[in-house]
Amino acid sequence: MKIHDIGGEFALIDRLARQSPAIHPDLVAGIGDDAAVIAGSFPDGDYLLVTTDMLVETTHFRRDWATPAQIGIKSVACNVSDIVAMGGTPTFMFVSLALATDTEVAWVETLYQGMAEACRRYGVVLAGGDTTHAEAATISITLLGRVSPENLRLRSHARPGEMLCVTGPLGGSAAGLAMLAAGLDPPPYLREKHLAPACRLDVSPAIAPLARAMIDISDGLAAEVNHICDQSGTGAEIIVADIPIHPAVREAARLTGNDPIELALSGGEDFELLFSISPENKQLLEQKGVPATAVGWVTEAASARILTAPDGTRRPLSGGYNHFRFTL
Ligand code: ADP
Ligand code: MG
Repeated sequence: MKIHDIGGEFALIDRLARQSPAIHPDLVAGIGDDAAVIAGSFPDGDYLLVTTDMLVETTHFRRDWATPAQIGIKSVACNVSDIVAMGGTPTFMFVSLALATDTEVAWVETLYQGMAEACRRYGVVLAGGDTTHAEAATISITLLGRVSPENLRLRSHARPGEMLCVTGPLGGSAAGLAMLAAGLDPPPYLREKHLAPACRLDVSPAIAPLARAMIDISDGLAAEVNHICDQSGTGAEIIVADIPIHPAVREAARLTGNDPIELALSGGEDFELLFSISPENKQLLEQKGVPATAVGWVTEAASARILTAPDGTRRPLSGGYNHFRFTL
């Protein structure tokens, strides 16, 4: 049996997690959220957060599209995004590199300049790593963070009746990628969204105390809503007309023969936040001036994840970026 036969990346992780059950009194949350949550590490009771993410050449970046500095920025941002999704603050970073022996030293130094720029932006400190050689350049980052128990936001905390909100327009990274893949020159907004994205540490400290479930959008809105529903035992309804889509994404979709809604639902790497929140707390968030767009709500029916089109037709909310199953 092959990985694609069992349904891809997420089915594989499920099987591996069942095979190695992680039970320890200090493990508040293990496999299944954006980062592991570990108690007993800080005297003030804060939890330690640990996440790891890997970028592989040709799968995640191409040297002819991205500068090494952009690759460095993206490799840090995608890890910070997972700490942010837990309601936490990033702290220390470990970088493991696998590089071909004929790699230019200047390329690696510029990669690290990009990482350093992102580290300054998010308050992260490089504290170690590992270096080895391989044909495909691989950058694997492990990032630590911390969060107070009150601000910890898990994927499993959504409850029926809560609104589902996103922190910004979706589909930008996928639209940038689609243009590059079609040999077109993406406008600066899309180029940056795909090649040197930012994550939402700027708004998460205001959102975390008011939200319930939270996740970062790294595999497309549809996949992330399904992750929240799976973990929370809920259903969801997403209203297509309410999904925020930047005009540049609509234009890129037109130029590349894509559906902009599909780019938002299934395109990866937007690094916006998706969270559930009570209607009262959503009002409080608005009063604080934090931008968040409601795209639907959490429902009772655990098995129903519905997408409602502008003409009122409803279909199952499926899709999302899954390694081993879909390519853009
Ligand atoms: P994200 O997209 O937020 O980075 P992933 O989809 O990569 O999250 O991972 C989902 C969960 O599965 C995380 O809790 C992660 O730690 C865990 N996970 C992923 N791959 C493995 C693996 N090979 N072994 C154990 N746990 C894994
Ligand atoms: Mg994540």
